[in-house]
Amino acid sequence: MSHRVLIIEDEKELAEILGEYLDVEGYEVMLAFDGQKGLKYVEDFKPDLILLDIMLPIVDGMTICKKVRETRDIPIIMLSAKSGEMDKVICLGIGADDYVTKPFSPLELVARVKAHLRRFDKTHNEKEMLGAGLEVKAGRLTLSKESYTAQIDEVEVNFTTKEFMVLYFFASHNNQVFTKEQLYENIWGMKEYGDISSVAVYIKRIREKLKEYQIDYIKTVWGIGYKFSIN
Ligand code: CA
Repeated sequence: MSHRVLIIEDEKELAEILGEYLDVEGYEVMLAFDGQKGLKYVEDFKPDLILLDIMLPIVDGMTICKKVRETRDIPIIMLSAKSGEMDKVICLGIGADDYVTKPFSPLELVARVKAHLRRFDKTHNEKEMLGAGLEVKAGRLTLSKESYTAQIDEVEVNFTTKEFMVLYFFASHNNQVFTKEQLYENIWGMKEYGDISSVAVYIKRIREKLKEYQIDYIKTVWGIGYKFSIN
């Protein structure tokens, strides 16, 4: 089955070049030259991965990223003309999986697309394989790997798939201390792409959600990393 890649980029020439590279690799490609079309194609074309420029007419890339993340866990790679560290942090914070600064080599980008899709497929296959009845109860949390749902006091709480995976990993290793690197390897499972700083970003988001229920299970172990503890 070939994957569908949506390129949302207003530099037409760049979008077309990337489209050709991906087409040669066997991907189905759709181009959108502004943010509004981009959002429309997210619904109509149902991409498996999005290459998303930040500065776009009508709707900007960060807004699109946030909107997509409300409903989908597909990989999003941000393409940016800026190289500021802040932008990178913001993009990863709103749920982008990767961040590439222009100018970049199309071949390198294709390699990243492949890697992200491979990881995404692996995660989903594991979801199916490990699915059967795997449930973890920890304190007020009940996490079901079958349905990828989290409950607090038996009320369902919304986590994205990745947030769920981080929380599930923690809850399955009560009181064990992990470094960011160990968490990244265990949950993301890939060292060469992506960014280790996303670990802290995900933990921050999970903590914020748990905090709404006065839950503080993910502790910082200063100088080492994190641990999950219901005490
Ligand atoms: Ca642009």
